Amino acid sequence: MPYTFSQIKRFGLLGAVIMASFQSGCIAESASESNSSDKNGPKNVIIFIGDGMGVSTVTAARIFDGQSKGMTGEEHSLEFESFENLALIKTYNTNAQVPDSAGTATAILSGYKTNIGAVNVPADLISARSGDVCNPYALPPTLTKRAKAKDKAVGVISTARLTHATPAAMYGHVVNRGWEADKDETGPMAQAGCKALAGQLIKSDIDIILGGGRKEFSDAQIDAWPGTVVGNREAMLAAPNDKPLLGLFNATHMSFEADRAETSEPSLAEMTTLAIDRLSKNEAGYVLMVEAGRVDHAHHGTNAYRALRDMQALNEAVKVAKDKAGDDTLIMVTADHSHVFTMAGYPMRGNPILGLAKGFDPKTQTVDLILDKDGKPYTTLGYHNGPNVREADSPALSDNMVQAPDFRQQTAVNLNSETHSGEDVPLYATGPGSENVRGVMEQDEIGRLIAEAIGAE
Ligand SMILES: [Zn+2]
Repeated sequence: MPYTFSQIKRFGLLGAVIMASFQSGCIAESASESNSSDKNGPKNVIIFIGDGMGVSTVTAARIFDGQSKGMTGEEHSLEFESFENLALIKTYNTNAQVPDSAGTATAILSGYKTNIGAVNVPADLISARSGDVCNPYALPPTLTKRAKAKDKAVGVISTARLTHATPAAMYGHVVNRGWEADKDETGPMAQAGCKALAGQLIKSDIDIILGGGRKEFSDAQIDAWPGTVVGNREAMLAAPNDKPLLGLFNATHMSFEADRAETSEPSLAEMTTLAIDRLSKNEAGYVLMVEAGRVDHAHHGTNAYRALRDMQALNEAVKVAKDKAGDDTLIMVTADHSHVFTMAGYPMRGNPILGLAKGFDPKTQTVDLILDKDGKPYTTLGYHNGPNVREADSPALSDNMVQAPDFRQQTAVNLNSETHSGEDVPLYATGPGSENVRGVMEQDEIGRLIAEAIGAE
């Protein structure tokens, strides 16, 4: 059933953005799969997405992880930095220079770029105001559907809500990523037959799906899950391994890794271990998507400490995959987009990455705090925008203040929430098929590379 431009314009929290897409006339590339399946291709594909993990985040996380092991840090390497293939990824959405996770996850997992805020709906259908945006049978199939058509088992893991944009791109279609629960199904698009993501997840045919977001599901939806539902780490580990498994470990997003010890939630590495152990029993192999979803959230709050702790959790999960997955597994690690997160100011080698910038002064031959024009110290890590602009009369920062877990780094442009950034992000790859990861790539090439790897039609 078609609906009008003005109806969509009124619809949902990203309505204005969607409207802009109508005017842009951008046409998404169709999800063209490979012509032939590579006989020597991988049996399994594991894709890790560090939400918001730009290059500066990787560098800072490398130093943070190294320093937590007693090193100066700069010389350290994260698990995926040993992968032999690397590309830079262009992340823009069809209608946005600086992207969001919905459009980028569609590119990474489904192989075509689309509008900011849209999950697995091509931009040209949105522009045409086609009723097909609500018809999953008329839309390019999700990666879950493609993998299932090849008899692959499918796993989805995220520390965000499972109805959040990135995990949703494994199984769902929505023009507006805000449509997570049934209660969000309102207005003309509901009349047109569009469905929210929670219901789509329950019907998705995914074998293992673990993350947060319990509040997005009705009791009837939980009852309709065709397998086991668990709500904490212990129940997850005890769940029967011959039934589909849904883990909902928090009402909303799972806890930041820095705060997880006080909860009954599993770690990203524990979820990854369980998923690989179970999915690898499937003879035809598996596709597994693992998202470190909260790196992004910590960055939005300019809390570098929690972003870097969640990067450590991602690193541990990648180590599990490296250790457990065989030579027949393509492993990729990438980000959906970057953040305005910077590392700057000439701190000396081994300076605490979360600390105040200190350097060697050749005049005095001493190591001192480096001071700004107002005579005040500053941190190595900062953000171009966000909620914590420091004024000339703000009290001077101390090392105790800036290394506290809740410290929010200094920002330049005053915004309520720090934003994504538009520069390229890295893609690290190893295993069969990874030789195609090279140079500067469009983000939707990743999705087509995955489709090709599994021989999808
Ligand atoms: Zn974000």
